[in-house]
Amino acid sequence: MAHQLSENRIVVSGIQPSGTLHLGNYFGAIRQHIALHDQFESYFFIVNYHALTSLHDRDRLRAYSLDVALDYLALGFDPTKSHLFLQSDVPAVNELAWIFYTLTPVSQLEKGVAYKDKVAQGLSANAGLFNYPVLQAADILIYGGHRVPVGADQKQNIEICRNLAARFNDRFGRGPQDAQGPPREMLPVPEPYILDDVAVVPGLDGRKMSKSYDNTIGIFDEGKELKKKVMAIVTDSTPLEEPKDPDTCNVYALIRLFADEKTRRRVAADYRAGGYGYGHAKKELLALITDRFAEARERRRELAKRPDDVMDVLREGGVRARERAETVMERVRDAVGLITTWNT
Ligand code: ADP
Repeated sequence: MAHQLSENRIVVSGIQPSGTLHLGNYFGAIRQHIALHDQFESYFFIVNYHALTSLHDRDRLRAYSLDVALDYLALGFDPTKSHLFLQSDVPAVNELAWIFYTLTPVSQLEKGVAYKDKVAQGLSANAGLFNYPVLQAADILIYGGHRVPVGADQKQNIEICRNLAARFNDRFGRGPQDAQGPPREMLPVPEPYILDDVAVVPGLDGRKMSKSYDNTIGIFDEGKELKKKVMAIVTDSTPLEEPKDPDTCNVYALIRLFADEKTRRRVAADYRAGGYGYGHAKKELLALITDRFAEARERRRELAKRPDDVMDVLREGGVRARERAETVMERVRDAVGLITTWNT
């Protein structure tokens, strides 16, 4: 279980617009984001600079970025409660990242598990991908983020971010008069907020659902496309009449996420009793997915007709985010000795 967040804490999190958001993203991150943004001032940003580490396609980057905004709004993000914006609306984040590069040992990044995983998955080993955790740290610290909701897979990057905040404070948080004492907290050291332990959501082929494996079910997939995907989920070949083990079945792993307790138990019992085939289970799963996102799908259709309203939400979020970022950046520039002539 995730621990309780205290009041008056800034929650920050980035969402990568590098593909269509899928059920793994929904259960592993988005669902909790939506719950958090109601309770705490949250800065959720669409990390299009990050997406450039794996996507060099102007039209797709633009489309995915706006899709993420539509998806979040359709799934219940309320812009009167928290801020949703584009990372590229706060270019100062790259300035902060640059300062952080100069504080980051290369050896620390070389140990990056996420970097190694992505290269193993076939992404090109570009310097952006290598430096990804540093830009991520800037993303968090530029808003004075206290809490960062992340999946367990992101723990190491949050550690890099915490190290950077501490190193920055140590290097730049001491005036001449307090050289011996503890440094001032120029940048608050954030705490990870590990999202509720959702077991890894399996994809169509039984591996972790991931856009890199092309095995995803999109949150807003529907109709024939959704049906085709659900029917393609890999199962073993136990005949219909024989008992089956729900705990080793990819279809049941997905049913578990959608169904209420009573349905879960009933389906598990049907599996074990025999006479219930994978085809039956897939039909139930299809109905559950269709049902769960029916309202959101409708809202998304409506929102898609009003792209200007979506841009307005992003614009307002961007204004708020830049304001907040600028207060931190003024402190940072001053602390490190970077003179600018345009804001004095
Ligand atoms: P992808 O693997 O498709 O590239 P991302 O790495 O962009 O997905 O995922 C963003 C976040 O979504 C992750 O940090 C994690 O919290 C969540 N997530 C993604 N895929 C899954 C999955 N299969 N199961 C559980 N959570 C997932």
